[in-house]
Amino acid sequence: MRALKNCLSIIFIILFCLLLTQALSSETRGVESGQRYDRLVIRNVVVIDGKGTPPRGPLDVVIEGNTIHSIRRARRAENAYQKEEHVLDGTGMHLLPGLINIHAHIHDSRADQPLPFEYIYKLWLACGITTVRDVGSNYDKTVEERRKSQEGLIAAPRIFLYMRAWGATPEEARLSVQEMEKRGGDGIKIFGMDRDIVKAALEEANKLGLRVAHHVGVEETDAWDDAAFGVTTIEHWYGVPDAALHGSQNFPSWYNYSSEDDRFRYAGRLWRETDPKKLKKVLERLVEKGVAWCPTLVIYEANRDLLRAMNQPWFKDYLHPAVAEYFKPNPAYHGSYQWNWSTTDEIFWRENYKIWMAAVQDFSRMGGVVGVGEDAGYIYMLYGFSLIRELELHQEAGFHPIDVIQHATGNNARILGMENKLGRIRKGYLADLIIVDENPLENLKVLYPTGVTDLKDGKLITKGGVKWTIKDGIIYHAPTMLEDVKRIVQKAREK
Ligand SMILES: [Zn+2]
Repeated sequence: MRALKNCLSIIFIILFCLLLTQALSSETRGVESGQRYDRLVIRNVVVIDGKGTPPRGPLDVVIEGNTIHSIRRARRAENAYQKEEHVLDGTGMHLLPGLINIHAHIHDSRADQPLPFEYIYKLWLACGITTVRDVGSNYDKTVEERRKSQEGLIAAPRIFLYMRAWGATPEEARLSVQEMEKRGGDGIKIFGMDRDIVKAALEEANKLGLRVAHHVGVEETDAWDDAAFGVTTIEHWYGVPDAALHGSQNFPSWYNYSSEDDRFRYAGRLWRETDPKKLKKVLERLVEKGVAWCPTLVIYEANRDLLRAMNQPWFKDYLHPAVAEYFKPNPAYHGSYQWNWSTTDEIFWRENYKIWMAAVQDFSRMGGVVGVGEDAGYIYMLYGFSLIRELELHQEAGFHPIDVIQHATGNNARILGMENKLGRIRKGYLADLIIVDENPLENLKVLYPTGVTDLKDGKLITKGGVKWTIKDGIIYHAPTMLEDVKRIVQKAREK
């Protein structure tokens, strides 16, 4: 008898909970993942814009098709939304512009094994990324992917494709920039060229109105050249401290740049050799010339804490076996240099980070535009999750979370030349938005699609995560995207 009573009360509790959740979510209706509607109302949500201002709300944001139609105070009247067919209830949630990943690679393979585009795209969407700037991939394939994304044929972020210019002479570099424009490049990426060749490539790119991302390695050119020739962004960082040395870095005689273990080990000893006064001048010049900086702090994090990088909790369910294979130490793969990585290396790198982060902070204080990119698919960094980690590192560098959000939205849109269409929650802007269950300003970790653990009434709960990712007015249920990724990974592992 007692068992029956217990059983009945459990059933009653379950029914009650079901009714309660229905009542609470009753205002989310008429929405289905993967759809775009003529009119969609996101109601009663707190808005964090991409312009560096504090949250405001509760507001209603009305989307028509792929555009933000209006923003108004949330309605209080009981039947205010009765006539609306498609409503997303944002009660207790935060609405942000979709995150932009300014340094991405749409890899079609890793470790000589194919990698499905769907895997990367759904990781990005699950993490709230609605736009990526690809700075190196299989261009013909990516041009096609960009079209499919534009036309809403695939679940994927917007794609901007910056194609790499090449050339052993200035003339070849000019021709290659012209060729990349014809092939459909939205911009140009340059990397590993001598000064006169960089100059020629940039002259040609400026003539054609193409923006330029410079992965400035340890090479003949440095930040002074980027300022002089007019690049749009410095990717990563090497050329900044290089420009603040007197002469070259203090490399050992046996150092070989082509050996990646040498390269990354001694990169960890670069910032400490800079002359602070000269560094300040370098940063000032970059700001003066309007060169933005996309530091990709996250992609080097393994260097200061290898075990952390190797054991990220999302690897368990979401690390594709091809990517896992690529991450293993292997001289054949770029970025897979972690054999004999030492305590000493990590200590040098920790100091390296401190000086680097302070430089990024100084650059911003002087008026420089800082962007957010992940460079995932290398060095234990998983697509999407790494961009959220990059946000955390920007906070560690001393930025307020409001400014960190701006880096990934308003600033990145500016870098793309899309500041009048993307990166803000504003009438007439494209409807690229994310709805987050919790306040990311309180803890940026709530942006991880796996959420965060909290204690509620003595019990551990999981909360947070992006709930809806809206790209070009198409709404995607982020947890479903993540579930799809899990299935792709499971299937690949079975093989
Ligand atoms: Zn890259």
